[in-house]
Amino acid sequence: MLDTKLDKVLRTTKKHISLLSSLGVKTIFDLLSYYPRTYTDERNTVLIVDMKLDQLNVIKGRVKSLHGRKSKNGMHVMEGIISDCTGSVAVIWFNQGYLERILKVGGLYYFSGKLKYDKGRSVFASPKVEAVSENVLHTARIVPVYHETEGLISKWIRDKIYPLLKYADSVPDTLPDWVKKEMDLCELGFAIKNVHFPSSQKDLVRARKRLAFNEVFSLQLKALKIRRAFKKFSSGFVIERADEAMKKFVEDLGFSLTKAQRRSLIEMLNDMGGGVPMLRLLQGDVGSGKTIVAALAALNVVKSGYQVAFMVPTEVLAKQHFSKLRELFDKVSISTEILTGSVGEKDEIYSKIFGGKVDVVIGTHALIQDKVKFKKLGLAIVDEQHRFGVEQRRKLANHGFPHLLSMTATPIPRTLAMIFYGDLDVSIIDELPPSRKKIITKVVAEDKRTDCYKWIYDRVKNGGDQVYVICPLVEESDYLEEVKSAKVEFEKLSEGPFKNLKVGLLHGRMSSAEKDDAMFQFKSGKTDVLVSTSVIEVGVDVSNATIMMIEGAERFGLSQLHQFRGRVGRGEKQSYCFLLASKYTPDGMARLSALEGTHNGFDLAEIDLKLRGPGEVYGIRQSGIPDLKIASFSDSELIKNARKMADKFLTNQEASKKRS
Ligand code: ADP
Ligand code: MG
Repeated sequence: MLDTKLDKVLRTTKKHISLLSSLGVKTIFDLLSYYPRTYTDERNTVLIVDMKLDQLNVIKGRVKSLHGRKSKNGMHVMEGIISDCTGSVAVIWFNQGYLERILKVGGLYYFSGKLKYDKGRSVFASPKVEAVSENVLHTARIVPVYHETEGLISKWIRDKIYPLLKYADSVPDTLPDWVKKEMDLCELGFAIKNVHFPSSQKDLVRARKRLAFNEVFSLQLKALKIRRAFKKFSSGFVIERADEAMKKFVEDLGFSLTKAQRRSLIEMLNDMGGGVPMLRLLQGDVGSGKTIVAALAALNVVKSGYQVAFMVPTEVLAKQHFSKLRELFDKVSISTEILTGSVGEKDEIYSKIFGGKVDVVIGTHALIQDKVKFKKLGLAIVDEQHRFGVEQRRKLANHGFPHLLSMTATPIPRTLAMIFYGDLDVSIIDELPPSRKKIITKVVAEDKRTDCYKWIYDRVKNGGDQVYVICPLVEESDYLEEVKSAKVEFEKLSEGPFKNLKVGLLHGRMSSAEKDDAMFQFKSGKTDVLVSTSVIEVGVDVSNATIMMIEGAERFGLSQLHQFRGRVGRGEKQSYCFLLASKYTPDGMARLSALEGTHNGFDLAEIDLKLRGPGEVYGIRQSGIPDLKIASFSDSELIKNARKMADKFLTNQEASKKRS
């Protein structure tokens, strides 16, 4: 019954059915799960004499008179008088002609709306109306308010959901009784009924608590199942410390590791040496040197006889890592290979991987296609993991590897990490290499733009500096627009202020060869200025680039801006980051000035979290974690409890499996 399609049970139009369907609401169950966004408390009715101007008033009154007419501009206007035992009030509705059919003079109704003062008199302006009865849905109660879309309004939704509540008790409740008892949760049927039409404030709170718990509990179950699956590959993957090779590798770097790098590395080696699979998140600000730490972890794994998959989010990054790591790994006799969507001889690479002829494979998500089979995969490294979805991580898990290292420059609060990855262990690199200078960051006003160009021009001409220009984010969906804006910017700069410089262009719609070429030209100093879309965001490393200009900076999130900024300041020279806004909003300006004053990515992530919420900051939509409908990512108590229960649940399940 619950999966009955709505067109079989609702008396409504095709249009409404398709509107619902576009929201993902197709069955009875879906509609029951379409929870209110908020509620208005309309329980207290007032007498007409006590109505207050400009406030919501709910009254119970009789229609004394009523007449409809067309206004000059064709609008339907209905006016009337409502009264109760204390007095009467004028009422007016616009464009609600259907009320003529519904309202009867002499009838008793609830009216709910605002009292306005207009042309010398008080008028009840377009109140909601509902006949007085036992089961009012729209007035004189705690009224649910739903997400509305064009053509789909709360009133309609309430009318349709109410009769379906008779199915609420048949929604299967998978939560065991002991969990309900321990967490003091109400029955599911009760929760569904009361989340839509609460009989009291208290019942509403209980209902939402139960549904929020369900939501987080099922996420936790999924996460914990993945974690348990990981941890099952226990013995046989013990990684020995390859001290000699590590020493050689570090000597060739030309710098020594920071304390934090060393500490993180040791944490990993301890994990991998213990015979239990590593499941670790390495957090470290942009430029803190995560790649080297990962490379050292990889080195140990290879020396113990296993392969390593090193996954990064973009081709540009894959190539950069590949060329850098190959150089380092060659010296310690470790073979490397690259695998991305655009690499030609894939079959050959597949067979090398399968035959164990290559030690470290660096690539994009091409690495986790089913065709890729490793001979002896020992470690998977996921760089900039916030760009990868849960689905991709799950695929990686299916490749059956014992050790996982995730890396991110966007720190994740503990409770969120619980939702995202089950329970990862966390290492933090909390210091930058010693030679790093602070990047001077400035918001540049529009009337200083020309000066800014002149200043940059001079630095490039006389100091040999290189420059990134980041183009504004167009609508997320509007990828082509973004490319267009990059092209326009490129033309503008190469014909205008940077006419005598060499300007390059990089965007996501270029072929992989073109992208390579643009990067190569920039890296080798053949271009001075690189105009780019946000594809440059992660990880790109050109140490002579010291100036970054970000156009439309207010459209980016703080963490992302910080990532961009991290593309400069990689060498010894003083670096600069200029932020240009295309629109001056208080919100946007607050973000930009935070960036001027704060250089620590962890602090910025905190601020970002406050300003934008976790959904935006962690790209929850792209990560594959559903946006929570009812629970909140910031409810750490709930998340902790749900996790505890999910863990216990799985433990019990395993124990009973063992017994039977
Ligand atoms: P991220 O943490 O952002 O991924 P990278 O690993 O790309 O940072 O490192 C940034 C730059 O710093 C690289 O050029 C790398 O070679 C260099 N680097 C890494 N560790 C150190 C160190 N301990 N001392 C000096 N430079 C370092
Ligand atoms: Mg990196």
